[in-house]
Amino acid sequence: MPWRVGPAARKAGMRPDPYRIWLSEVMLQQTTVAAVKSYFEAFTARWPTVSDLAGAADADVMAAWAGLGYYARARNLLKCARAVVADHDGVFPDSYDGLLTLPGIGPYTAAAIAAIAYDEAATVVDGNVERVMARLHDEHTPLPQSKPILTRHAETLTPEARPGDYAQAVMDLGATICTPKRPACGLCPWREACAAWAAGTQAELPKKAPKKKKPVRFGIAYLVRRVDGAWLLERRPDSGLLGGMLGWPGSDWIDVTAGTPEAAPPIRAEWKTLPDEARHTFTHFHLRLGLRTALVPMERVPERGEFVAPEDFRPADLPTLMRKAFDLARPR
Ligand code: SF4
Repeated sequence: MPWRVGPAARKAGMRPDPYRIWLSEVMLQQTTVAAVKSYFEAFTARWPTVSDLAGAADADVMAAWAGLGYYARARNLLKCARAVVADHDGVFPDSYDGLLTLPGIGPYTAAAIAAIAYDEAATVVDGNVERVMARLHDEHTPLPQSKPILTRHAETLTPEARPGDYAQAVMDLGATICTPKRPACGLCPWREACAAWAAGTQAELPKKAPKKKKPVRFGIAYLVRRVDGAWLLERRPDSGLLGGMLGWPGSDWIDVTAGTPEAAPPIRAEWKTLPDEARHTFTHFHLRLGLRTALVPMERVPERGEFVAPEDFRPADLPTLMRKAFDLARPR
């Protein structure tokens, strides 16, 4: 992983960079290592330090984040970088408590940076660690109710010596050996101490409370092209889903059981309805987005959004939902 400092480099005196640890941890929330790697490399090549990131334009950072999802993270990323520069001379605070004062940094991220970058004995608990603790202690209370119990187990094990290596080792144990399905207990260094292994219950742990079925919402998006090839785009408000990202103007997204969304088109045009909907799943609901397209003359003025010239339009700068809509509309 490009944000890690390996044992040889550590021996040679190299320290993990808190900026890179922070950036990787924020990117990894709700996202896999495989998905994050190329984004991490692109971000650190373009903004090698927290000061570089703090000086970046909001629109550039949001565009570079497009496709990673959970866009509030990108907005908080900028807020945090700017706070580090404005309030801490461009250096991340070197303690768990200090890190917690930064915007967008919660207990998990503060503990990860404090342990990995500053070797503070802070306890890092992510999903991997929860699974390892549940099995190690044969804990059958379901998640999320068991979170405080599993955190206490993790705290008890956190050592004073090399807590950063320890935190990464437990997370790696969960990611590679004590995996959700078919854990490789035969390879596990903790097998002799593992209560679930002794009881043969490892495959059923951690227990989870049944998930609620996600509701379905419906919305309408308008994909408008001007005859010169420009597309009509709108920046979404900072708060709310896909906040601060570019997208197609459209309606609110309402529960399908509540009827049809109010759809005020952003420009006067002859609309065609596409046969396909763009579908996307957010944390708390599934979205079905009906698509309307239109071609408009040069002199037509939009009531919402702005036309973006073809040479300035990059589909890659759109969040995944808006790109799906574009891919469906483009052939038509
Ligand atoms: S012995 Fe198996 S269940 Fe127990 S911690 Fe190791 S991999 Fe996980």
